[in-house]
Amino acid sequence: MQQFARLRERLGRIADVQAAQAVLSWDQETYMPTGGGGARAHQLATLGRIGHEMLTDDEIGVLLESAAVEVASLDPDSDEARIVQVTRRDRNKAVRVPASLVAELARTTALAQQAWAQARSRDDFASFCPHLERVLELTVQKAEALGYDECLYDALLDEYEPDMKASEVSAVFTHLRGELVLMVEAIAERPAPDDTCLRRNFSAAAQWAFGEAVITDFGFDFERGRQDRSAHPFSTNFSTTDVRITTRVDENFLPSALFGTLHEAGHGMYEQGVDASLDRTGLAGGTSLGIHESQSRLWENLVGRSESFWAYYYPKLQEQFPDQLGDVDDATFYRAVNCVEPSLIRVEADEITYNLHVMIRFELELDLVAGTLAVSDLPAAWNAKYEEALGLTPPIDADGVLQDIHWSFGLMGYFPTYTLGNLVSVQLFNQAAQDLGDLEGQIGRGEFAPLRGWLHEHVYRHGRKFSAQELLQRITGGGLDAGPWLDYARHKFGALYGI
Ligand code: ZN
Repeated sequence: MQQFARLRERLGRIADVQAAQAVLSWDQETYMPTGGGGARAHQLATLGRIGHEMLTDDEIGVLLESAAVEVASLDPDSDEARIVQVTRRDRNKAVRVPASLVAELARTTALAQQAWAQARSRDDFASFCPHLERVLELTVQKAEALGYDECLYDALLDEYEPDMKASEVSAVFTHLRGELVLMVEAIAERPAPDDTCLRRNFSAAAQWAFGEAVITDFGFDFERGRQDRSAHPFSTNFSTTDVRITTRVDENFLPSALFGTLHEAGHGMYEQGVDASLDRTGLAGGTSLGIHESQSRLWENLVGRSESFWAYYYPKLQEQFPDQLGDVDDATFYRAVNCVEPSLIRVEADEITYNLHVMIRFELELDLVAGTLAVSDLPAAWNAKYEEALGLTPPIDADGVLQDIHWSFGLMGYFPTYTLGNLVSVQLFNQAAQDLGDLEGQIGRGEFAPLRGWLHEHVYRHGRKFSAQELLQRITGGGLDAGPWLDYARHKFGALYGI
Protein backbone atom coordinates (compact mmCIF):
# COMPACT_ATOMS: atom_id res chain seq x y z
CA MET A 1 0.00 0.00 0.00
CA GLN A 2 2.99 2.25 -0.56
CA GLN A 3 1.46 4.11 -3.50
CA PHE A 4 -1.84 4.52 -1.66
CA ALA A 5 0.03 6.06 1.29
CA ARG A 6 1.76 8.49 -1.07
CA LEU A 7 -1.58 9.37 -2.67
CA ARG A 8 -3.12 10.01 0.73
CA GLU A 9 -0.28 12.27 1.69
CA ARG A 10 -0.85 14.33 -1.48
CA LEU A 11 -4.62 14.44 -0.92
CA GLY A 12 -3.97 15.77 2.58
CA ARG A 13 -2.08 18.73 1.14
CA ILE A 14 -4.88 19.45 -1.34
CA ALA A 15 -7.44 19.32 1.49
CA ASP A 16 -5.31 21.79 3.47
CA VAL A 17 -5.35 24.30 0.61
CA GLN A 18 -9.12 23.87 0.22
CA ALA A 19 -9.59 24.36 3.96
CA ALA A 20 -7.53 27.58 3.84
CA GLN A 21 -9.78 28.78 1.02
CA ALA A 22 -12.83 27.94 3.15
CA VAL A 23 -11.44 29.91 6.11
CA LEU A 24 -11.02 32.98 3.90
CA SER A 25 -14.57 32.57 2.52
CA TRP A 26 -16.01 32.19 6.02
CA ASP A 27 -14.13 35.29 7.14
CA GLN A 28 -15.40 37.23 4.12
CA GLU A 29 -18.99 36.50 5.22
CA THR A 30 -18.48 37.21 8.91
CA TYR A 31 -15.69 39.56 10.00
CA MET A 32 -13.83 40.97 6.98
CA PRO A 33 -14.16 44.76 6.66
CA THR A 34 -15.71 45.79 3.33
CA GLY A 35 -12.38 47.34 2.31
CA GLY A 36 -10.78 43.90 2.26
CA GLY A 37 -12.91 42.74 -0.65
CA GLY A 38 -10.57 43.33 -3.58
CA ALA A 39 -7.56 41.71 -1.92
CA ARG A 40 -9.68 38.79 -0.72
CA ALA A 41 -10.89 38.10 -4.28
CA HIS A 42 -7.24 37.70 -5.38
CA GLN A 43 -6.41 35.48 -2.40
CA LEU A 44 -9.37 33.19 -3.08
CA ALA A 45 -8.53 33.03 -6.78
CA THR A 46 -4.92 32.09 -6.05
CA LEU A 47 -5.84 29.37 -3.56
CA GLY A 48 -8.54 28.08 -5.93
CA ARG A 49 -5.96 27.80 -8.70
CA ILE A 50 -3.36 26.11 -6.48
CA GLY A 51 -5.87 23.53 -5.22
CA HIS A 52 -7.01 22.81 -8.75
CA GLU A 53 -3.46 22.49 -10.09
CA MET A 54 -2.54 20.12 -7.26
CA LEU A 55 -5.48 17.82 -7.97
CA THR A 56 -5.02 17.81 -11.75
CA ASP A 57 -1.24 17.32 -11.52
CA ASP A 58 -0.09 14.35 -13.67
CA GLU A 59 1.62 12.77 -10.70
CA ILE A 60 -1.72 12.43 -8.89
CA GLY A 61 -3.05 10.67 -11.99
CA VAL A 62 -0.14 8.20 -11.91
CA LEU A 63 -0.48 7.68 -8.14
CA LEU A 64 -4.22 7.07 -8.52
CA GLU A 65 -3.61 4.33 -11.10
CA SER A 66 -1.01 2.53 -8.98
CA ALA A 67 -3.08 2.97 -5.80
CA ALA A 68 -6.06 1.49 -7.68
CA VAL A 69 -4.01 -1.66 -8.28
CA GLU A 70 -3.08 -1.84 -4.60
CA VAL A 71 -6.69 -1.52 -3.37
CA ALA A 72 -8.17 -3.84 -6.04
CA SER A 73 -8.10 -6.84 -3.68
CA LEU A 74 -9.73 -4.94 -0.78
CA ASP A 75 -13.43 -4.78 0.03
CA PRO A 76 -14.88 -2.30 -2.52
CA ASP A 77 -16.58 -0.56 0.43
CA SER A 78 -13.31 -0.13 2.36
CA ASP A 79 -12.17 3.43 3.04
CA GLU A 80 -9.11 2.88 0.84
CA ALA A 81 -11.07 1.63 -2.18
CA ARG A 82 -13.60 4.43 -1.82
CA ILE A 83 -10.92 7.10 -1.47
CA VAL A 84 -9.48 5.98 -4.79
CA GLN A 85 -12.91 5.80 -6.45
CA VAL A 86 -14.14 9.20 -5.23
CA THR A 87 -10.83 10.96 -5.91
CA ARG A 88 -10.80 9.56 -9.44
CA ARG A 89 -14.24 10.95 -10.04
CA ASP A 90 -13.30 14.37 -8.59
CA ARG A 91 -10.09 14.47 -10.59
CA ASN A 92 -11.73 13.39 -13.86
CA LYS A 93 -14.09 16.31 -13.49
CA ALA A 94 -11.39 18.76 -12.43
CA VAL A 95 -9.10 18.03 -15.40
CA ARG A 96 -11.83 19.10 -17.79
CA VAL A 97 -11.93 22.63 -16.34
CA PRO A 98 -8.92 24.85 -17.15
CA ALA A 99 -7.11 26.30 -14.10
CA SER A 100 -7.53 29.79 -15.57
CA LEU A 101 -11.33 29.36 -15.53
CA VAL A 102 -11.25 28.09 -11.92
CA ALA A 103 -9.25 31.14 -10.84
CA GLU A 104 -11.41 33.55 -12.85
CA LEU A 105 -14.57 32.07 -11.32
CA ALA A 106 -13.15 32.36 -7.80
CA ARG A 107 -12.15 36.01 -8.34
CA THR A 108 -15.37 36.98 -10.13
CA THR A 109 -17.66 35.36 -7.58
CA ALA A 110 -15.78 36.89 -4.63
CA LEU A 111 -16.40 40.34 -6.17
CA ALA A 112 -19.96 39.44 -7.18
CA GLN A 113 -20.74 38.32 -3.64
CA GLN A 114 -19.68 41.71 -2.31
CA ALA A 115 -21.64 43.50 -5.07
CA TRP A 116 -24.70 41.40 -4.18
CA ALA A 117 -24.48 42.33 -0.48
CA GLN A 118 -24.38 46.03 -1.41
CA ALA A 119 -27.09 45.74 -4.05
CA ARG A 120 -29.34 43.94 -1.60
CA SER A 121 -28.89 46.53 1.14
CA ARG A 122 -29.57 49.34 -1.35
CA ASP A 123 -32.27 47.48 -3.31
CA ASP A 124 -30.28 48.11 -6.49
CA PHE A 125 -30.40 45.17 -8.91
CA ALA A 126 -28.86 47.28 -11.72
CA SER A 127 -25.53 47.49 -9.84
CA PHE A 128 -25.45 43.68 -9.43
CA CYS A 129 -26.58 42.88 -12.97
CA PRO A 130 -23.18 43.09 -14.74
CA HIS A 131 -21.61 40.92 -12.01
CA LEU A 132 -24.27 38.27 -12.38
CA GLU A 133 -23.96 38.36 -16.17
CA ARG A 134 -20.25 37.62 -15.86
CA VAL A 135 -20.83 34.88 -13.26
CA LEU A 136 -23.42 33.25 -15.54
CA GLU A 137 -21.09 33.45 -18.54
CA LEU A 138 -18.28 31.71 -16.62
CA THR A 139 -20.66 29.18 -15.08
CA VAL A 140 -21.91 28.19 -18.52
CA GLN A 141 -18.29 27.87 -19.70
CA LYS A 142 -17.61 25.59 -16.76
CA ALA A 143 -20.68 23.45 -17.53
CA GLU A 144 -19.58 23.14 -21.15
CA ALA A 145 -16.11 22.09 -20.02
CA LEU A 146 -17.50 19.51 -17.58
CA GLY A 147 -19.75 17.96 -20.24
CA TYR A 148 -23.24 16.45 -19.98
CA ASP A 149 -25.58 13.87 -21.48
CA GLU A 150 -28.97 15.55 -21.66
CA CYS A 151 -28.64 19.27 -20.99
CA LEU A 152 -26.09 21.87 -19.87
CA TYR A 153 -27.82 22.23 -16.51
CA ASP A 154 -27.02 18.59 -15.68
CA ALA A 155 -23.31 19.43 -15.53
CA LEU A 156 -24.03 22.05 -12.85
CA LEU A 157 -26.50 19.92 -10.88
CA ASP A 158 -23.91 17.13 -10.80
CA GLU A 159 -21.59 19.40 -8.77
CA TYR A 160 -24.06 19.39 -5.88
CA GLU A 161 -26.16 16.27 -6.41
CA PRO A 162 -23.90 13.77 -8.17
CA ASP A 163 -25.58 11.70 -10.91
CA MET A 164 -28.91 13.53 -10.67
CA LYS A 165 -30.41 14.85 -13.93
CA ALA A 166 -32.51 17.99 -14.44
CA SER A 167 -35.17 15.80 -16.08
CA GLU A 168 -35.44 13.71 -12.88
CA VAL A 169 -35.74 16.85 -10.78
CA SER A 170 -38.42 18.19 -13.13
CA ALA A 171 -40.42 14.96 -12.86
CA VAL A 172 -40.33 15.00 -9.04
CA PHE A 173 -41.12 18.73 -8.90
CA THR A 174 -44.05 18.51 -11.33
CA HIS A 175 -45.69 15.81 -9.23
CA LEU A 176 -45.00 17.67 -6.00
CA ARG A 177 -46.14 21.03 -7.29
CA GLY A 178 -49.64 19.80 -8.14
CA GLU A 179 -50.05 18.45 -4.60
CA LEU A 180 -48.58 21.58 -2.99
CA VAL A 181 -50.95 23.89 -4.84
CA LEU A 182 -53.92 21.82 -3.62
CA MET A 183 -52.64 21.94 -0.03
CA VAL A 184 -52.05 25.70 -0.13
CA GLU A 185 -55.55 26.23 -1.55
CA ALA A 186 -57.18 24.06 1.12
CA ILE A 187 -55.24 25.84 3.88
CA ALA A 188 -56.14 29.28 2.51
CA GLU A 189 -59.83 28.47 3.04
CA ARG A 190 -59.27 27.82 6.74
CA PRO A 191 -58.93 30.57 9.37
CA ALA A 192 -55.36 31.87 9.59
CA PRO A 193 -53.59 31.16 12.91
CA ASP A 194 -52.55 34.12 15.01
CA ASP A 195 -48.77 34.46 14.80
CA THR A 196 -48.47 37.95 16.28
CA CYS A 197 -46.72 36.43 19.32
CA LEU A 198 -43.66 35.83 17.11
CA ARG A 199 -43.48 39.48 16.10
CA ARG A 200 -42.92 41.03 19.52
CA ASN A 201 -39.55 42.41 20.60
CA PHE A 202 -37.09 39.66 21.57
CA SER A 203 -33.59 40.75 22.65
CA ALA A 204 -30.85 39.50 20.34
CA ALA A 205 -28.68 38.26 23.21
CA ALA A 206 -31.48 36.17 24.73
CA GLN A 207 -32.41 34.73 21.31
CA TRP A 208 -28.77 33.80 20.74
CA ALA A 209 -28.49 32.14 24.15
CA PHE A 210 -31.69 30.12 23.68
CA GLY A 211 -30.68 28.88 20.22
CA GLU A 212 -27.23 27.81 21.42
CA ALA A 213 -28.72 26.04 24.44
CA VAL A 214 -31.03 24.00 22.18
CA ILE A 215 -28.31 22.97 19.73
CA THR A 216 -26.05 22.04 22.64
CA ASP A 217 -28.86 19.68 23.71
CA PHE A 218 -29.03 18.38 20.12
CA GLY A 219 -25.34 17.55 20.35
CA PHE A 220 -23.65 20.30 18.35
CA ASP A 221 -20.14 20.30 19.83
CA PHE A 222 -18.92 23.82 20.66
CA GLU A 223 -15.45 22.42 21.41
CA ARG A 224 -15.28 21.59 17.71
CA GLY A 225 -17.44 24.36 16.31
CA ARG A 226 -18.75 27.88 16.76
CA GLN A 227 -21.58 30.12 15.68
CA ASP A 228 -21.22 33.67 14.32
CA ARG A 229 -23.42 36.24 12.63
CA SER A 230 -23.66 36.72 8.85
CA ALA A 231 -26.01 38.39 6.35
CA HIS A 232 -27.09 34.96 5.09
CA PRO A 233 -26.97 31.90 7.39
CA PHE A 234 -24.58 29.15 6.26
CA SER A 235 -22.31 26.42 7.54
CA THR A 236 -18.79 25.48 6.55
CA ASN A 237 -15.95 23.44 7.98
CA PHE A 238 -12.18 23.22 7.84
CA SER A 239 -11.97 19.72 9.38
CA THR A 240 -14.29 17.50 11.40
CA THR A 241 -12.91 19.26 14.48
CA ASP A 242 -13.58 22.82 13.29
CA VAL A 243 -17.11 23.40 12.02
CA ARG A 244 -18.55 26.90 11.63
CA ILE A 245 -22.20 27.86 11.50
CA THR A 246 -23.72 31.32 11.16
CA THR A 247 -27.11 32.87 11.66
CA ARG A 248 -28.81 36.26 11.61
CA VAL A 249 -31.01 37.77 14.29
CA ASP A 250 -34.19 39.82 13.85
CA GLU A 251 -35.27 41.30 17.19
CA ASN A 252 -38.82 41.65 15.92
CA PHE A 253 -39.27 38.16 14.46
CA LEU A 254 -38.39 35.22 16.68
CA PRO A 255 -38.23 32.40 14.06
CA SER A 256 -35.36 33.92 11.99
CA ALA A 257 -32.51 33.20 14.37
CA LEU A 258 -34.06 30.24 16.18
CA PHE A 259 -34.87 28.06 13.20
CA GLY A 260 -31.80 29.31 11.35
CA THR A 261 -29.66 28.08 14.24
CA LEU A 262 -31.40 24.68 14.40
CA HIS A 263 -31.03 24.35 10.62
CA GLU A 264 -27.33 25.18 10.45
CA ALA A 265 -26.63 23.00 13.49
CA GLY A 266 -28.10 20.10 11.50
CA HIS A 267 -25.50 20.75 8.79
CA GLY A 268 -22.80 21.23 11.40
CA MET A 269 -23.48 17.99 13.29
CA TYR A 270 -23.23 16.08 9.99
CA GLU A 271 -19.73 17.51 9.42
CA GLN A 272 -18.69 16.96 13.04
CA GLY A 273 -19.90 13.38 12.79
CA VAL A 274 -17.82 12.36 9.76
CA ASP A 275 -15.30 9.71 10.83
CA ALA A 276 -12.11 11.57 11.81
CA SER A 277 -10.04 9.03 9.86
CA LEU A 278 -11.53 10.50 6.65
CA ASP A 279 -10.21 14.00 7.41
CA ARG A 280 -7.82 15.36 4.77
CA THR A 281 -9.15 12.93 2.13
CA GLY A 282 -11.77 13.30 -0.59
CA LEU A 283 -14.24 11.40 1.61
CA ALA A 284 -14.50 14.14 4.24
CA GLY A 285 -17.71 16.17 4.11
CA GLY A 286 -21.32 15.50 3.20
CA THR A 287 -22.01 13.19 0.29
CA SER A 288 -24.40 15.48 -1.60
CA LEU A 289 -26.19 18.72 -0.90
CA GLY A 290 -29.55 16.94 -0.92
CA ILE A 291 -28.36 14.64 1.86
CA HIS A 292 -26.79 17.61 3.66
CA GLU A 293 -30.05 19.49 3.49
CA SER A 294 -31.96 16.45 4.71
CA GLN A 295 -29.90 16.75 7.90
CA SER A 296 -30.57 20.46 8.44
CA ARG A 297 -34.27 20.20 7.64
CA LEU A 298 -34.65 17.15 9.85
CA TRP A 299 -33.49 19.08 12.93
CA GLU A 300 -35.15 22.35 11.92
CA ASN A 301 -38.58 20.97 10.97
CA LEU A 302 -39.17 17.33 11.88
CA VAL A 303 -37.69 17.93 15.33
CA GLY A 304 -37.77 21.73 15.81
CA ARG A 305 -41.29 22.43 14.55
CA SER A 306 -42.88 19.35 16.10
CA GLU A 307 -45.45 19.28 18.87
CA SER A 308 -43.28 17.07 21.10
CA PHE A 309 -40.28 19.40 20.73
CA TRP A 310 -42.32 22.36 21.91
CA ALA A 311 -43.93 20.38 24.73
CA TYR A 312 -40.40 20.23 26.14
CA TYR A 313 -38.99 23.62 25.10
CA TYR A 314 -41.92 26.01 25.26
CA PRO A 315 -41.84 26.40 29.07
CA LYS A 316 -38.10 27.13 28.77
CA LEU A 317 -38.72 29.69 26.03
CA GLN A 318 -41.41 31.35 28.16
CA GLU A 319 -38.93 31.51 31.01
CA GLN A 320 -36.45 33.25 28.70
CA PHE A 321 -39.12 35.70 27.42
CA PRO A 322 -41.73 36.11 30.19
CA ASP A 323 -42.92 39.55 29.01
CA GLN A 324 -43.29 38.48 25.38
CA LEU A 325 -44.71 34.96 25.79
CA GLY A 326 -46.12 34.79 29.32
CA ASP A 327 -49.66 35.32 28.00
CA VAL A 328 -49.34 32.93 25.01
CA ASP A 329 -50.35 29.28 25.52
CA ASP A 330 -48.39 26.39 24.01
CA ALA A 331 -51.07 25.48 21.45
CA THR A 332 -51.11 29.05 20.09
CA PHE A 333 -47.33 29.10 19.88
CA TYR A 334 -47.17 25.71 18.13
CA ARG A 335 -49.71 26.88 15.54
CA ALA A 336 -47.81 30.16 15.08
CA VAL A 337 -44.48 28.48 14.25
CA ASN A 338 -46.31 26.24 11.76
CA CYS A 339 -48.36 28.94 10.09
CA VAL A 340 -48.68 28.25 6.33
CA GLU A 341 -48.87 31.43 4.32
CA PRO A 342 -47.51 32.44 0.92
CA SER A 343 -44.60 34.80 1.58
CA LEU A 344 -41.69 36.41 -0.23
CA ILE A 345 -38.60 35.13 1.60
CA ARG A 346 -37.52 31.53 1.03
CA VAL A 347 -35.52 31.01 4.21
CA GLU A 348 -38.45 32.14 6.33
CA ALA A 349 -41.12 30.21 4.42
CA ASP A 350 -43.25 27.51 6.02
CA GLU A 351 -42.65 23.85 5.25
CA ILE A 352 -45.29 23.71 2.48
CA THR A 353 -44.70 26.87 0.44
CA TYR A 354 -40.91 26.61 0.88
CA ASN A 355 -40.79 24.13 -1.97
CA LEU A 356 -42.57 26.53 -4.33
CA HIS A 357 -39.77 29.06 -3.70
CA VAL A 358 -37.25 26.40 -4.71
CA MET A 359 -39.17 25.45 -7.86
CA ILE A 360 -39.26 29.09 -9.00
CA ARG A 361 -35.47 29.34 -8.74
CA PHE A 362 -35.00 26.01 -10.53
CA GLU A 363 -37.16 27.14 -13.46
CA LEU A 364 -35.35 30.49 -13.68
CA GLU A 365 -31.95 28.77 -13.56
CA LEU A 366 -32.91 26.41 -16.37
CA ASP A 367 -33.81 29.42 -18.53
CA LEU A 368 -30.71 31.42 -17.56
CA VAL A 369 -28.34 28.53 -18.29
CA ALA A 370 -30.13 27.66 -21.54
CA GLY A 371 -29.77 31.31 -22.60
CA THR A 372 -33.52 31.84 -23.01
CA LEU A 373 -33.64 34.40 -20.17
CA ALA A 374 -31.33 37.43 -20.01
CA VAL A 375 -30.00 38.48 -16.59
CA SER A 376 -31.39 41.97 -17.16
CA ASP A 377 -34.89 40.45 -17.52
CA LEU A 378 -34.50 38.39 -14.35
CA PRO A 379 -36.33 40.70 -11.89
CA ALA A 380 -39.43 40.82 -14.10
CA ALA A 381 -39.36 37.06 -14.66
CA TRP A 382 -38.90 36.51 -10.92
CA ASN A 383 -41.84 38.73 -10.03
CA ALA A 384 -44.10 37.08 -12.61
CA LYS A 385 -43.33 33.62 -11.22
CA TYR A 386 -43.99 34.73 -7.63
CA GLU A 387 -47.32 36.17 -8.69
CA GLU A 388 -48.23 32.96 -10.49
CA ALA A 389 -47.10 30.48 -7.82
CA LEU A 390 -47.72 32.38 -4.59
CA GLY A 391 -50.02 35.24 -5.58
CA LEU A 392 -47.47 37.82 -4.45
CA THR A 393 -45.29 40.37 -6.20
CA PRO A 394 -42.20 41.53 -4.27
CA PRO A 395 -42.49 45.29 -3.68
CA ILE A 396 -38.71 45.64 -3.91
CA ASP A 397 -35.99 43.47 -5.49
CA ALA A 398 -34.26 43.13 -2.10
CA ASP A 399 -37.24 40.98 -1.07
CA GLY A 400 -37.33 39.36 -4.49
CA VAL A 401 -34.57 38.45 -6.89
CA LEU A 402 -31.81 39.81 -4.61
CA GLN A 403 -32.74 37.80 -1.50
CA ASP A 404 -30.44 34.79 -1.93
CA ILE A 405 -26.64 34.81 -1.98
CA HIS A 406 -26.24 31.70 -4.17
CA TRP A 407 -26.09 33.11 -7.69
CA SER A 408 -23.43 35.65 -6.71
CA PHE A 409 -21.27 32.69 -5.67
CA GLY A 410 -21.92 30.98 -9.00
CA LEU A 411 -24.02 28.34 -7.23
CA MET A 412 -26.40 27.41 -10.05
CA GLY A 413 -27.85 23.92 -9.97
CA TYR A 414 -27.82 24.14 -6.18
CA PHE A 415 -31.38 25.21 -5.31
CA PRO A 416 -33.15 21.94 -6.27
CA THR A 417 -31.19 20.18 -3.52
CA TYR A 418 -33.20 22.09 -0.92
CA THR A 419 -36.42 20.36 -1.87
CA LEU A 420 -34.66 17.03 -2.43
CA GLY A 421 -33.40 17.45 1.14
CA ASN A 422 -36.93 18.01 2.45
CA LEU A 423 -38.10 14.80 0.80
CA VAL A 424 -35.14 12.76 2.05
CA SER A 425 -35.44 14.18 5.58
CA VAL A 426 -38.81 12.47 6.04
CA GLN A 427 -37.60 9.21 4.50
CA LEU A 428 -34.73 9.11 7.01
CA PHE A 429 -36.78 10.33 9.97
CA ASN A 430 -39.41 7.61 9.37
CA GLN A 431 -36.72 4.96 9.30
CA ALA A 432 -35.16 6.34 12.49
CA ALA A 433 -38.58 6.36 14.18
CA GLN A 434 -39.10 2.72 13.17
CA ASP A 435 -35.66 1.68 14.43
CA LEU A 436 -35.75 3.71 17.66
CA GLY A 437 -39.30 2.84 18.64
CA ASP A 438 -40.10 5.86 20.79
CA LEU A 439 -38.62 8.79 18.86
CA GLU A 440 -41.55 11.17 19.54
CA GLY A 441 -41.36 10.40 23.26
CA GLN A 442 -37.60 10.93 23.28
CA ILE A 443 -37.95 14.33 21.58
CA GLY A 444 -40.70 15.26 24.07
CA ARG A 445 -38.27 14.55 26.92
CA GLY A 446 -35.41 16.48 25.31
CA GLU A 447 -33.48 13.25 24.72
CA PHE A 448 -31.69 13.68 21.42
CA ALA A 449 -28.79 11.27 21.84
CA PRO A 450 -30.69 8.30 20.34
CA LEU A 451 -31.62 10.22 17.16
CA ARG A 452 -28.17 11.77 16.81
CA GLY A 453 -26.61 8.36 17.41
CA TRP A 454 -28.81 6.81 14.72
CA LEU A 455 -27.85 9.55 12.24
CA HIS A 456 -24.21 9.14 13.16
CA GLU A 457 -24.34 5.41 12.55
CA HIS A 458 -26.26 5.56 9.26
CA VAL A 459 -25.34 8.94 7.73
CA TYR A 460 -22.71 11.13 9.40
CA ARG A 461 -19.73 8.83 9.85
CA HIS A 462 -19.61 7.74 6.20
CA GLY A 463 -18.90 11.23 4.81
CA ARG A 464 -18.70 10.91 1.03
CA LYS A 465 -17.96 7.19 1.14
CA PHE A 466 -21.40 6.29 -0.22
CA SER A 467 -23.26 8.30 -2.85
CA ALA A 468 -26.65 9.79 -1.99
CA GLN A 469 -28.38 6.95 -3.85
CA GLU A 470 -26.29 4.29 -2.11
CA LEU A 471 -26.91 5.83 1.29
CA LEU A 472 -30.68 5.97 0.77
CA GLN A 473 -30.70 2.42 -0.54
CA ARG A 474 -28.71 1.15 2.46
CA ILE A 475 -30.94 2.95 4.95
CA THR A 476 -34.44 2.70 3.48
CA GLY A 477 -34.04 -0.11 0.94
CA GLY A 478 -35.25 2.23 -1.81
CA GLY A 479 -34.54 5.46 -3.67
CA LEU A 480 -35.73 9.06 -3.54
CA ASP A 481 -39.48 9.15 -2.87
CA ALA A 482 -41.78 12.18 -2.46
CA GLY A 483 -44.53 9.98 -0.96
CA PRO A 484 -43.37 10.03 2.68
CA TRP A 485 -42.98 13.82 2.69
CA LEU A 486 -46.48 14.25 1.20
CA ASP A 487 -47.96 11.90 3.83
CA TYR A 488 -46.13 13.80 6.57
CA ALA A 489 -47.34 17.20 5.30
CA ARG A 490 -50.95 16.04 4.84
CA HIS A 491 -51.02 14.53 8.31
CA LYS A 492 -49.33 17.40 10.16
CA PHE A 493 -51.03 20.32 8.42
CA GLY A 494 -54.33 18.47 8.08
CA ALA A 495 -54.43 18.25 11.87
CA LEU A 496 -53.27 21.85 12.35
CA TYR A 497 -55.83 23.29 9.93
CA GLY A 498 -58.67 20.81 10.45
CA ILE A 499 -58.65 19.60 6.85
ZN1 ZN B 1 -29.27 24.28 4.58
